[in-house]
Amino acid sequence: MKEIVLLGATGSIGTQTLQVIRTNPKEYQLTTISVHTNIVQAWQIVNEFSLKSICVYDEVAALAFQQKASAVGYKIEVLTGLEGLITLVKTQGNFIMNALVGSVGVLPTIEALKLNKDVALANKETLVTAGRLVMEYARKSSGKLIPVDSEHSAIFQCLEPNYEKELKQIIITASGGSLRDVTKDELAGVTIEQVLAHPNWSMGNKITVDSATMMNKGFEVIEAKWLFDIPFEQIHVALHRQSTVHSLVEYVDGSILAHLGKTDMRIPIQYALTYPKREVLSPLTSFDWSKPFSLDFEPISLEQFPILKLAFDAGKAGKTYAAALNAANEVAVNAFLLGKIHFTEITPLLTRIVESHQPKNELLIEDILLVDQQTRKQAKAYINKLTK
Ligand code: NDP
Ligand code: MG
Repeated sequence: MKEIVLLGATGSIGTQTLQVIRTNPKEYQLTTISVHTNIVQAWQIVNEFSLKSICVYDEVAALAFQQKASAVGYKIEVLTGLEGLITLVKTQGNFIMNALVGSVGVLPTIEALKLNKDVALANKETLVTAGRLVMEYARKSSGKLIPVDSEHSAIFQCLEPNYEKELKQIIITASGGSLRDVTKDELAGVTIEQVLAHPNWSMGNKITVDSATMMNKGFEVIEAKWLFDIPFEQIHVALHRQSTVHSLVEYVDGSILAHLGKTDMRIPIQYALTYPKREVLSPLTSFDWSKPFSLDFEPISLEQFPILKLAFDAGKAGKTYAAALNAANEVAVNAFLLGKIHFTEITPLLTRIVESHQPKNELLIEDILLVDQQTRKQAKAYINKLTK
């Protein structure tokens, strides 16, 4: 029986994880959850699964949640902040689903691996920020680190044992995001609503913006480098509008293995839960073979998407460059979603941050977290200047 700690239960991945958990109550037991501020949805989940603990990250929301529970005589331990997340990981369950958004996911992942607990990792910012360090812990742990991001789940499923010597390259597919048909001139006028209207996937706001800038693909390149221990030179990105092929693995003999399926995150979520087995999911996740369909691929050049080049360069530069890129991106996306900066200001801002970054050792968690905090301040200062 998987006793699941679901971090980020109210988000897009969190909600779909709950859907998967509900399909198989004999195999999956939801033990505890975390949310940031959404205590209305948290209350529903707590009641449905009779939970005895929760982490409400935001202190004010945590207090309001505690008061709500006390008012109806519901006994529950309410934790808060990063310490609360870590306590849940340490004391509850045997399987962690990390569906948090942002670098806040780094320490809970490390703590889980230290305790030899399995981690299903949707939170890509963990590997962008601290990939080398997290993989060190993963190698030492008897807990498994299983990717949930659809491209990485695809690659994970296509890689054969001892692939290192036989692998030519991996090809990560990109839908192109909500602005894929917007011209450079039109970019200046795009609205938040346009950016949030992803053509293929329904996801949280942050990753949807990242898909539109192509930062998401850049992060996925770095994520793949660490997860599969592949040099950047063997990682490629191809535009694939239908998002039916979730990624491909090419071997030295010319064979190419691809993972196909519907654009439904419940498939990789369930695979992370059942790995290495497969189980029936929902009729909704079955592919429809009754209609004709086509698969189109277009090469992507790094010149076309400077942000993708920035991610490759930051990844190759090593040390804390990618951690700085991630922190600045979190601040920039948040500022964009709040209407403080324009979409076209994101890439130049990130470029400035990476170019001026003073790197630190990437194997010390203290250094990584310091870079994360300092870069956030630096990015906020840039944004304040821009908006004055
Ligand atoms: P959402 O924004 O939909 O959900 C994020 C979850 O984390 C919510 O439960 C939110 O709580 C909580 N949260 C947000 N900020 C914090 C914080 N600072 N501290 C603690 N908890 C926080 O994100 P997604 O589900 O879209 O994405 C989750 C992760 O999975 C991301 O790393 C994303 O890149 C990755 N991913 C997502 C995919 C998708 O289809 N959505 C696909 C592939 C990867 P609250 O609701 O209270 O705000
Ligand atoms: Mg993805």
